[in-house]
Amino acid sequence: MAIIVQKFGGTSVADAKKIRRAAERVIKAVKSGYQVVVVASARGKQTDKLIADARELNPNPPSRELDQLLSTGEIQSVSLFAMALEAMGYEAISFTGGQIRMMTNSDFTKARIKSIDAKRIHKELDSGKIVTVAGFQGIDENENITTLGRGGSDTTAVALAAALKAEECEIYTDVDGICTTDPRIFKGAVKMEQISYDEMLEMASLGAGVIYTRAVECGKNHNVKIHVRSSIKEEEGTIITHEVPQMEGVVVSGATIQEDLAKVGLVNVDNVPGNAAKIFARLADAKVVVSDIVQTEISAEKANLSFIIGISDLVAARKAVEQVKNEVNCESIFIRDDIAEVSVVGVGMRTHYGVAGRMFGALAKAKVNIDSITTSEIRISCVVDKDQAEKALQVISAAFELDKPAEQRSKS
Ligand code: ADP
Ligand code: ASP
Ligand code: MG
Repeated sequence: MAIIVQKFGGTSVADAKKIRRAAERVIKAVKSGYQVVVVASARGKQTDKLIADARELNPNPPSRELDQLLSTGEIQSVSLFAMALEAMGYEAISFTGGQIRMMTNSDFTKARIKSIDAKRIHKELDSGKIVTVAGFQGIDENENITTLGRGGSDTTAVALAAALKAEECEIYTDVDGICTTDPRIFKGAVKMEQISYDEMLEMASLGAGVIYTRAVECGKNHNVKIHVRSSIKEEEGTIITHEVPQMEGVVVSGATIQEDLAKVGLVNVDNVPGNAAKIFARLADAKVVVSDIVQTEISAEKANLSFIIGISDLVAARKAVEQVKNEVNCESIFIRDDIAEVSVVGVGMRTHYGVAGRMFGALAKAKVNIDSITTSEIRISCVVDKDQAEKALQVISAAFELDKPAEQRSKS
């Protein structure tokens, strides 16, 4: 029998009525002949609430204890989900991450999945039950509970789909699918029929919070068909899949906005071999994830270096660069915590020219100043002032006609 994994996000299980509606989706799949594994997130804003509870007692809660606490949000959802299914006449059993041996490393709050024991789930499915699994959590080799990072239930779902060789992983959420940009900010954003793993990886890591980056990565590595769709409407959503040649015909597929960023710069560092290595080794020791590294030689003797981090890593990053400052003979450190990044993404950029000019032109017309620019083969990103970021996203979305379906947009 074919297996399907259905993941319901926090908004889709926020109250009893919504859990029942989600359960109806599950029952529909059972009636179509599937064995169904449900993954659920914590209800509504429960994870934020638990974080606030922790901080009220300890402004810097130990990460092991924080994970122990946060994992309870998802456990509530899946036991309630199983109860709802029972009440609707279907046998169901819920599991925590630990109970299905979702093994992770010990990086609390951002653990990575190492392996899953699918045997227990298969046994329950084969006995005719619907299995509900708590998302976002696992267990390390010392039986400590770990969590996978904010938004991590998506990863649980895709990893389970891979381990169970599921036909499809459906991600049910509060939007119609993956849109050209965040519909909360650009009202005209339209749903895409499909998007390549690579474009979605870029969009997710650049702020499109609709699906978590690691879930897309896992889907790409294990060939999991991911279908992001509405938990309210019946229509199909967006399929994330391998690139097909037609995708290159679309110049820009989507635009993103990423807030909660900070920029760290080191001014007048000695321009000698090994200094960048020293700085980034120190940041790695502090477990800081960096992006958009820019180094510019300003003379034969000196260079400037800057990079972007998540604001939650700012304290650790500041400490790390201060420790290495003298070693690399850096004159000063500058930090901006009032920035955001807007980006355009599309595999079509590989073969079309003029994308940069069009993006910068739209920003110039709206009088948005660009702090720094970085590019990859399939994206262009601009750091801008945080208070201009939403306007920036709106004007670039309009410039690339992201309110129209791909085939109706002009190519230049
Ligand atoms: P869930 O609770 O279902 O996991 P999330 O809040 O994590 O839901 O993700 C859904 C939200 O992602 C949407 O409400 C939307 O505002 C936001 N979002 C950001 N970028 C996009 C995009 N490109 N397409 C669709 N939604 C997006
Ligand atoms: N509940 C967790 C969060 O809010 C995980 C998730 O929703 O995917 O980040
Ligand atoms: Mg989510």
